[in-house]
Amino acid sequence: MKKALITGIGGQDGSILAELLLQKGYEVYGIIKREAIENPNLKLKNIASIVNEVELIPMSVTDPMAVYKAIKKIHPDEIYHLAASSFVSYEFEDEVAMMNSNFNSTYYLLSSILEINKDCKFFFAGSSEMFGEPFESPQSENSKFNPKSMYGIAKVSSYYLLKNFRDKKGLYTCTGIMYNHESPRRKSEFVTKKIIETAVRIKLGRAKELVLGNLDAVRDWGYAPDYMNAALLIMSQPKPDDYIIATGHLHSVKQFAETAFSLLDLKVDDYIKINTKYFRASENYPLCGNPEKLKGLGWSTSKSFTEIIKMMIEEELTNQTN
Ligand code: GDP
Repeated sequence: MKKALITGIGGQDGSILAELLLQKGYEVYGIIKREAIENPNLKLKNIASIVNEVELIPMSVTDPMAVYKAIKKIHPDEIYHLAASSFVSYEFEDEVAMMNSNFNSTYYLLSSILEINKDCKFFFAGSSEMFGEPFESPQSENSKFNPKSMYGIAKVSSYYLLKNFRDKKGLYTCTGIMYNHESPRRKSEFVTKKIIETAVRIKLGRAKELVLGNLDAVRDWGYAPDYMNAALLIMSQPKPDDYIIATGHLHSVKQFAETAFSLLDLKVDDYIKINTKYFRASENYPLCGNPEKLKGLGWSTSKSFTEIIKMMIEEELTNQTN
């Protein structure tokens, strides 16, 4: 039986990936923060249904000795490094903490497998933030990086680390450069979940308005389980490589909100208020990924933009009425 180690198993992506790996018959190990064990109702929500089927390791990926010991003990066949501080600040706050969790952790994991288990395959969750302010749109694997946040810089640095461990040391390492991907497990800070939660509250008479930033902002939004299936597909190739994981389609925040409200038989214009505090610097070229290379492996998306919104609404309605 193959063993997979997931960092960040309690998050949206980690929990979805754990379910997929269990379905494939893997033994699944997951690194989670110690505080998650202390506050299981809140922090282990996403993995509540599989908590007895996976082995959880409470530790920090920023602790090199703990990382080394975990890999020595488990001897995983595959590692999926998804843990990250996902708060993207363009103000450059907390740079050291960001580098610790999003770059040093990658180094500790890679150097441990180099030492202990060179055959272990390694997947790293890259991000469209690596392109930051892109020079072209859509972006492909050959587009130039231009990160504009510490988060993006840490992701680009990890990407190059993986590439060097692959080219120079022969490790099987792959970066999936993932664009925004959503599911009912998305955290409320993201605009998609914020819209869905508030729209459902309005529908149930518990809220009166939805305050947003720039409605014309566009994103390439995909469905999180499709992106985790892409990670598995990438890791099953004979040769390691890097791939863009995206839909290639752009939608605006306004379109997202309109679709969500209309699925609830509400008129979005009756409820939206704009607050410039949510505005970000404008982009010359939008963050839109070109998934052609990944499609060449046989990957495709399973849900349309509207279908993603519909399923997020259905789950939110169930949660808020229970
Ligand atoms: P990310 O910035 O791509 O990681 O994802 P978000 O979901 O936070 O933001 C997606 C886009 O929505 C960005 O271009 C924001 O400028 C835009 N946006 C507009 N209104 C809001 C809002 O109220 N909250 C957030 N988070 N984003 C907003």
